[in-house]
Order: sequence, then C-alpha cells, then structure tokens
Amino acid sequence: MIIIKLETKEPLHLSASYTVSTYSPCIEYIPGSALRGGMAKKFLQEDQNQEDFERFFLDDHVRFGPLWPAQNSPQGAIGAILLPMTAYTCKRYPGVYSSKTGYTKHGIRDMLFEFIKEPTGTSSLNCSEQDCEAPLTRQTGYYIGQEAHMELIELDKRVITSTAIDDQTQTAAPEQLFTLQVIEEGQMFWGQIEFGDPDLEEMFCQLCCETGIQIRLGAGTSRGLGLMEVKDIYPSDNHPNYNLFSVTQSLLERIQEFDSVAKMELGDRFANQTCTCFSLDLLSDCLLLDEFLQYKIRIEPSDLARYIHPDLSRAAPLGQVCTSQFVDGWNNLHCLPRETSVAISAGSVFFYCIDVPPQELANLLGQVEYRGIGERTQDGFGRVTINHPFHLKREQR
Ligand SMILES: [Zn+2]
Repeated sequence: MIIIKLETKEPLHLSASYTVSTYSPCIEYIPGSALRGGMAKKFLQEDQNQEDFERFFLDDHVRFGPLWPAQNSPQGAIGAILLPMTAYTCKRYPGVYSSKTGYTKHGIRDMLFEFIKEPTGTSSLNCSEQDCEAPLTRQTGYYIGQEAHMELIELDKRVITSTAIDDQTQTAAPEQLFTLQVIEEGQMFWGQIEFGDPDLEEMFCQLCCETGIQIRLGAGTSRGLGLMEVKDIYPSDNHPNYNLFSVTQSLLERIQEFDSVAKMELGDRFANQTCTCFSLDLLSDCLLLDEFLQYKIRIEPSDLARYIHPDLSRAAPLGQVCTSQFVDGWNNLHCLPRETSVAISAGSVFFYCIDVPPQELANLLGQVEYRGIGERTQDGFGRVTINHPFHLKREQR
C-alpha cells in the first residue's frame, strides 16, 4: 500500500453531480476515480513507459483512494477519520470540548447502542451536560485523535461566481452566471493507493518523487481550478485502517473488546446467548448489487456471504443507521457521463450478531478491511472497518 498526501494549490471543485445548475456544491472528499484519472493524465503527459502505465492504472487489482481531509502538523499531515452516522452532539452547544473556543461545547457521543435498544425512541434523548437538556443532533464530518481528546477537521471553503464567455463576441454571455463552491488553497488530503505488489509500489513512489508531481482534479481545470501537489508519497506495510486503531491491537482483540461492550450496553438481550456482536462501518460510499443487478441500500447477511465469506449468511442483522445517495461520474475517455449509481453512503453503520466465537468471526472477516466490499472497489468504493472505535467511546467528549 502507498500512503499519499496532497495539498490544494488552487481552489478545488468536485461536484456531487454532473447535472448543470446555477449553484454547484462541492463534496468534501476526493473520489478514487478522480485521483486515478488525474494521476493517469499526468503520467501520459510525462510520456512514461506504456507497460508501466498499464500496470499502474489499468490492472483490475489496483485500488485508488478515496482521499479524505488531513490536518497539517509539524510531523506531517495527519489523516482524518470520517465520523460514523451514529455520532451525535448537543443542539445548543455543538462540537467537541475545546480550550481554544470562547464558549463551552457539550461534546460528541456515539448513539449506536441507543439506536439498537430503541430504534424509534432516541428523539427523546437529550444532552446530559448539567442544566442543559437540549435535544441531540447528528454531527457530521471528520475527526483526528484516537485517545480521549478528539478534534473536528473542517475544510475551508468559499464560493466563486463566474460568467460564461460568448464564443463569438468573447465577452460575458448574457444570462449565464455560474456559482461554484470550492475548497480553498492550502488544504491537505490523504489516502491510499494499492497495487498489491511492493516492488511496483516502490517504483511508483520513485517516479512520483522524481517528477515532483502536480496533478489537476475536479472541474474547471482549464481556468485556474483544481491544481494539487503531492506533498508526501511512500510505500507502507501498515494496516489499511491504521489511523483508526492502536497498531498493537489485532482484529480478534478488537472483536472481543467490542463484543463485551455491546453486551454490557444491550444488557439482557444477550444474557443466554452464545453469539458475537460486530458492526460494519462504511468509510467510503458502497455499491452493492442484488441478483437482478439492481443497487441495494443496505447490507444484508446475504451480501456479507456473497462479498466476504459464505458462513456470514448466519449473521442476524440487529439494526442499522444508514442512508443512500446517487453517485454520478464522468468518463473522460468517452466524454460522456457515467451511468448514475445508487450508493450506500459513507458513514453508514450496520450491526449484527452471529453464533460463532470471536476467533472464528475474526477468521471470517479477516480480509474485508483490505479488500473492501461491493462493486468498483478499485475506485475506492466500499472501504470498511469492523467495529469502528468511535462506538466504544461512550462518554461525552
Ligand atoms: Zn448541551
């Protein structure tokens, strides 16, 4: 696996949809397909060896991105982690505790086990800070920090308005005003590229370092938008979700820890059962197809069996917190929009129990964090983690 960190040198616009409208909002991550396209274009311009190009960009086993926000620090950029959809905060004083801010914030907490216990009753839950009792609301975004203190990462954005140019008069075209939301210059992103071959990864990093690579991503690349510079790129043998967990913890230990917390939180429900609880958390959007090739909007045990291990068909779904959305794309080769897909959104959480001991479950789930789940994993779709560590931090922060 290769770790890559990039910085925006010009405003960056990544549209959520190819449909044209007067205002286009910007998504907060860089899809894997955009990274692969931007890098491939740069390599073609540099006139690299055709054989290398095919191995880097056209092989089915190659996986690009996605890229998530990162925070600058003296030791280099620190990769941020997407909050699961079970993260909630106080509506009156939202956000994490911070000594920097002038007013109090009442912390962020995880609500997974509350949702499992009472799927319909959580709207009555209030902030537990003394004398507050404001309702809770969902906290979206990214965070850094594994331990007690966490920090929310927000990208700086602005809005750019421009007119279209009339082809004949070369002046501003009447009634054609476009407004784009863009990510500002100087913002960091990080992610991973996987070739499945350490020698190839080493070679790719050397080529990138030699060329001091700058690539263009997103919309408006011919008019001063989308220039990004690779700040850091190196091969690594870390676990793909290395920034979520302590490096010394194995999957089995994580499963055991999560299972005991889940049983403690859910109490009587598992009193006489020999089963293991686990959650599947989406770190990127996920494309799942059923047997009729239609897109699915939740991950069922049959999907776990199909994409991970047949024995997982025995898992019982106990609840989920999920949404779905349309995903569009642009095929540069054909100069046509890609087919619109329906993806299960990044941040979605699925909770199951299965009648096998933790050791066996760890064997069944062994490779899913490396391989991902669903379709188009080469473009960064379907990145998952088992038992997101955020679920285990029960107290407010
Ligand atoms: Zn509060």
